[in-house]
Amino acid sequence: MDKLEQLYEGKAKKVFKTEDPDVLIVDYKDDATAFNGEKKGTIVGKGVINNKMSNYVMSLLEKEGVPTHLVKELSDRETAVKKVEIVPLEVIVRNVSAGSFAKKLGIEEGRKLLCPTLEFSYKDDALGDPFINSYYALALGLATKEEIDLITKYAFQVNDVLIKYFLGIGIELIDFKIEFGRYHGQIILADEISPDTCRLWDVTTHEKLDKDRFRRDLGNVEDAYKEVFHRLGIK
Ligand code: ADP
Ligand code: UDP
Repeated sequence: MDKLEQLYEGKAKKVFKTEDPDVLIVDYKDDATAFNGEKKGTIVGKGVINNKMSNYVMSLLEKEGVPTHLVKELSDRETAVKKVEIVPLEVIVRNVSAGSFAKKLGIEEGRKLLCPTLEFSYKDDALGDPFINSYYALALGLATKEEIDLITKYAFQVNDVLIKYFLGIGIELIDFKIEFGRYHGQIILADEISPDTCRLWDVTTHEKLDKDRFRRDLGNVEDAYKEVFHRLGIK
């Protein structure tokens, strides 16, 4: 499978057409951004880790009954994926208070939530991905009721699978962001699942093993990504 015309260059990935209209190739970069693109940097080796980790996690989720866009890993940084129409919602699931949740509600980071939460942001960089609820999504025609129900079901299913999986390698899944798309009328999981899009804390030391090390200038950013990668045991 070959890369044809570049369709899009995002903050973390480039997206290419292929000879198959149903298949795209994503190419993961080492570029890192935070605070809606205001902070920019490079995390050496991140593209390789995020590509391989995302594929590994997506194949795990497929086995557990969550349909995903994964077609085939093509190289260290490149993967063939099903071309979807992205539902313009960032779907965020939280198990432990952190980030914007902690700030907004005045709760200390690290407080275990009594049950997982789910929230939506409207995927719009110019607006800074504002927080919306399912009524807004319906009213704006971003998704149908059936799609929102399915997205919600899959998001909690992803959470259940990943909580267990990460605990097995000594990592607590604090929160994460996922995206879904429409593929021939079906809702499937798309985009990526990586330390860029999840908060991952060491179970014992609570050390942050994710992009917060970059966002907050905590140092050892590359090492944190490598640590997660090694614990996953990906070749
Ligand atoms: P951003 O657009 O936020 O800068 P990226 O650099 O990760 O993000 O770019 C990847 C883009 O490709 C994102 O906009 C994402 O929604 C989109 N995308 C992810 N998976 C698919 C897919 N299977 N089909 C079509 N678009 C996808
Ligand atoms: N997240 C993401 N992309 C975004 C916003 C958030 O991947 O554009 C992830 C983030 O890494 C974290 C979760 O979603 O795992 C919740 O992020 P939060 O709302 O706390 O925002 P942040 O503190 O990152 O601004």
